[in-house]
Formats: sequence, structure tokens, C-alpha cells
Amino acid sequence: MDKRPWVDPKKCISCGACVSLAPKTFELDEKDMNATAVAKSKPGDKKEDVDLAIQTCPTAAIKWK
Ligand code: SF4
Repeated sequence: MDKRPWVDPKKCISCGACVSLAPKTFELDEKDMNATAVAKSKPGDKKEDVDLAIQTCPTAAIKWK
């Protein structure tokens, strides 16, 4: 994967959908009071699964960067 997914913390509503669809790429940040999703430093899911997570995000908070 050349590009990496990035979560906009201002848009994320912590629904957990991306974590369910691509658990090796996204996680909820337990250190953040709002537990927003963050992309792991080494995304571990297939691009299709990450794309599905991006499409499923209800607030369009995830982008490829
Ligand atoms: S799917 Fe979107 S709103 Fe839900 S936790 Fe992931 S980034 Fe946040």
C-alpha cells in the first residue's frame, strides 16, 4: 500500500465500524477521551477492506493520504 489511511479526528464519531471492517488497520484510541479511531502505523488489512471501511464510515472521516 503506497498511500495510508488517515482518520480526521474532528469528523470521527467513534462508531467503531472501521475497526470492525479492518481491525488490523484501525483502532479506537483509548487514550483519547472521545475514543476516536486512528489508523495504525502499519495497516494490515487488504486494500479492499480498508476501502470498504472508508465507504462505510458514516461521517466520511477516513481518507487515503
Ligand atoms: S467508521 Fe468513521 S466515524 Fe466510525 S469509528 Fe471509524 S472513522 Fe470514526
